[in-house]
Amino acid sequence: PYDVLIVGGGPAGASAAVYAARKGIRTGLVADKFGGQVMDTVGIENFISVKATEGPKLVASLEEHVKDYDVDIMTGQRATAVSQNGNIEVELENGAKLQSKSIILATGARWRQMNVPGETEYKGKGVAYCPHCDGPLFKQKDVAVIGGGNSGIEAAIDLAGIVNHVTVLEFDSTLRADDVLVKKAHSLNNITIVKNAQTTQVLGDGNKVTGLHYTDRVSGEEKQLNLSGIFVQIGLVPNSEFLQNTIDLTERGEIIVDGQGATSMPGVFAAGDVTNCAYKQIIIAMGSGASASLGAFDYLIRQSDN
Ligand code: FAD
Repeated sequence: PYDVLIVGGGPAGASAAVYAARKGIRTGLVADKFGGQVMDTVGIENFISVKATEGPKLVASLEEHVKDYDVDIMTGQRATAVSQNGNIEVELENGAKLQSKSIILATGARWRQMNVPGETEYKGKGVAYCPHCDGPLFKQKDVAVIGGGNSGIEAAIDLAGIVNHVTVLEFDSTLRADDVLVKKAHSLNNITIVKNAQTTQVLGDGNKVTGLHYTDRVSGEEKQLNLSGIFVQIGLVPNSEFLQNTIDLTERGEIIVDGQGATSMPGVFAAGDVTNCAYKQIIIAMGSGASASLGAFDYLIRQSDN
């Protein structure tokens, strides 16, 4: 068996792999695709000490760093179940079973998409999912935030300090965000909130976003907004479906971890966007990957067969 098997090859998994391998223990990394969400990111300007980079470039450096160590990398493989049988067993989609004394789950998350025409085409060209990451790209421009939950209203307040104007489009007749956030948003004169608005299409000129169409669900009227950016804030979904009923998850499906990254199953640790950590960012995922790896090492040296 491995000493540590990491499931996931994004920033959290890569960081966990380097930290584990540096302890000289038998380390494996199994991932669907190396790089995770970073592979889909165009500009990255908040990875501290690197002023500006691009997703694929950062992924190449991550891979190079991991490959510098003795890590068994298995890509193109999806984990479908985790169980305990003395060791921890990770079952893969192809039927194979991997054994390890400890594992680190770093399967990340995915942004819920609107699934309207133009969204995929203009992803990274005006359609954005992370206000902390991409907000500054829309300085003095007009943007929309799709979704009036906590993340949507927080994004609108955050963006209002950077951009010219923010329109929040909420599908429902009420906002689901906390009152204190809604009050704050109403107090800012460059935020407009539109309820009962169903976004139907992202508009663009072939290179970048120019606006969107939405339907007023009360009048049935079709409306157009001219915009440079569209922030989609309708939920971040953790990739934890395969862990249901084995490991404690929050209501939203995030793996519950403690300060060392330990989960409810002994020997199983977790890191990054798949966990209930407070903010979902590259630097945070890497930090938690390091913590989980050190946590796993602490666990291993306390086991009687080591
Ligand atoms: P992920 O990056 O999601 O990686 C998950 C890994 O797990 C992948 O390798 C995936 O293939 C694998 N995996 C998933 N399920 C399975 C399974 N069942 N079996 C095996 N493998 C599996 N953050 C910033 O700090 N700055 C930015 O500028 C920035 N911009 C962003 C732009 C976009 C468009 C997006 C989507 C995100 C952005 N983020 C940014 C957020 C950042 O990318 C994430 O916080 C970070 O990637 C989380 O790392 P992770 O390792 O936890 O998960």
